[in-house]
Amino acid sequence: MGKAPAFFVELNDFETAVTVGNKTYVICGTDDPTSSGVRILNKLTSEWVIPTVLGTKPEPFKGHSSVLLNKDRILIIKHNSISNESMWFLEVDTQFIRDQKKKLETEVVGWSKGVIGDSDQPVVISGPSGVGKGTLINMLMKEFPSMFGFSVSHTTRAPREKEQNGVHYHFTKRDVMEEDIRSGKFLEHADVHGNLYGTSIEAVNVVADAGKRCILDIDVQGARSVRASSLEATFIFVCPPSFEELEKRLRARGTETEEQIQKRLRNAKAELEQGKSSGLFDHILVNNDLEACYEQLKNILGIGESMNTVSITSKVFDLPVDFSLSKVNEKVLINHEAAEQMVVDLSSMKGGAPGRTRGLDIYVYDP
Ligand code: 5GP
Repeated sequence: MGKAPAFFVELNDFETAVTVGNKTYVICGTDDPTSSGVRILNKLTSEWVIPTVLGTKPEPFKGHSSVLLNKDRILIIKHNSISNESMWFLEVDTQFIRDQKKKLETEVVGWSKGVIGDSDQPVVISGPSGVGKGTLINMLMKEFPSMFGFSVSHTTRAPREKEQNGVHYHFTKRDVMEEDIRSGKFLEHADVHGNLYGTSIEAVNVVADAGKRCILDIDVQGARSVRASSLEATFIFVCPPSFEELEKRLRARGTETEEQIQKRLRNAKAELEQGKSSGLFDHILVNNDLEACYEQLKNILGIGESMNTVSITSKVFDLPVDFSLSKVNEKVLINHEAAEQMVVDLSSMKGGAPGRTRGLDIYVYDP
């Protein structure tokens, strides 16, 4: 790409510059993983600032093109890459960034990975301990491995025998998790049976990035927080045929001490009352017969016996070694002399830092 004179800012190899108001943002597609990747020239004071960088930044890359969108974010497309890995947004003045600047009292930018297409709404499954939520989720994941993915929660409780870190939960320490909650990494969190549990934004994004529908196994407090958040989801409550049956199942599981069982049963009473009456849930399932309950769950999710399954595809194109970008309304054109012109359609764009920016479309320009 070479050096380009932009706004009198001297650029190194693999750097581009974009001016927004009085500030010039220099983005460095560096191979040096220690680099923050962004520096800002305040054109009024001629001073350089290294900002606080939020969100998940891209892996180091060589060569990119950038273009300003809506005066609040910069679209960065990597050269010589594949389309579903190539698009990133550097937010410089979105609402999220403005809030963070106020909170941190420093210059702030935020990365957000661009995702082509939109995955189906996540599914929140709640219900008292021992009701069989885990079994139903396992059945679903086993029958439809490419369609559903489990949101791996964080918890401060100790792992049970056979539970694997990063698979069943991310087992963590309370002070570490509390710090991560303060820094905005969690979609929701709750104290459940005396331990802290929570869903990180990353846990949900990882599943959606893989083009899968995300399943969250969380308690009623967590479901309420998700309802209040910007995440649109389908909410399902699973209840037992009777309280006695729930107690029997919880004891048969043999994973808790008597004291823990008593605590879980007390909490179950409250959860059942809230779950059934609050109007929080879109669907209530009674797990009397496991197979019948599983069939009902599949019907709710649109994958019952009589229904056609929908597959999610994502568009994969090879992008050239070098190109320029130009913005026309809500589209960005990828221009290259020798390659077909491509179009990135941003009209259905949603989300953003510190999570992903979804709903992008990419196609070959057909005049
Ligand atoms: P367990 O300790 O039996 O794995 O889970 C106890 C309870 O915590 C279950 O009701 C489960 O739904 C809930 N839970 C698991 N992960 C989360 C989470 O990330 N957030 C919330 N709010 N609850 C969770």
